[in-house]
Amino acid sequence: MKPLNKISKKELNQIKMIVFDVDGVLVQRGTKIKQTGHITTFNTKVIAPRQIEQIKKLHQKGFLINISSGRGLYMLQEMFREILPFVSLTYECGSATWYQGKIYQHINSFQYVQKILPKLKRVAERNENIKGFEPKEFIITVHCKKRDKKIETVVRKDKDFCTIWNGEAYDVLIKKRQTKALGLKHAMKIFKLKKQNVMAIGDNYNDYELLQASGMPISADKSRLKGKFYVPLKGKFLPADKLMQKILSPIGDNDLIG
Ligand SMILES: [Mg+2]
Repeated sequence: MKPLNKISKKELNQIKMIVFDVDGVLVQRGTKIKQTGHITTFNTKVIAPRQIEQIKKLHQKGFLINISSGRGLYMLQEMFREILPFVSLTYECGSATWYQGKIYQHINSFQYVQKILPKLKRVAERNENIKGFEPKEFIITVHCKKRDKKIETVVRKDKDFCTIWNGEAYDVLIKKRQTKALGLKHAMKIFKLKKQNVMAIGDNYNDYELLQASGMPISADKSRLKGKFYVPLKGKFLPADKLMQKILSPIGDNDLIG
């Protein structure tokens, strides 16, 4: 892995679409959620004015912008309201894509969710460790204070599913199929792109397949993900900010961004 400032103009020239993970990349990590009975409360983060300007500039330069997240569409639309005309949103770990008001569904997980959700709900009853289920359509996301053996056991018993623990929640997904790469493959068809035209940046385990499926993977957390290039997770600027600074920089090859 090379630091981002080693990326050359030549390598950038073939990129037509940039795929951004959300948490830890475009906004700070962390979702606060609380569930009591049928009342669910959570905070919504919004994209910072600085990132809005950067994304608008990328759009003006002719780049396609795809935002790929484990979050639900309703939340992403609120977070990115100001830049919706310039982006496509791939949500719930590659399950569907929103673009210009149209929805492209990439997987039908209905029967799967029906099968495992009641079991997970049962585990969550009177379990102090479980904070709540995030409202989702295609995947199941269970927020926990810490890792939960019972959740892991329920999922492990069913060969159709896997879990990804991201430090604050489990995503319960259809094994091997429901990944951000599924969303990217469909987005590439929608926009008629080849793998080498796609740059993707992510910071967490659920970005693994996404980065693999892109021609230019950028890791925003070297400890969790491998990329062709990396951006440090910590520092004054968010990883997406650093990446966009680099792409928008007129000097290109030999500028000063670390
Ligand atoms: Mg992330």
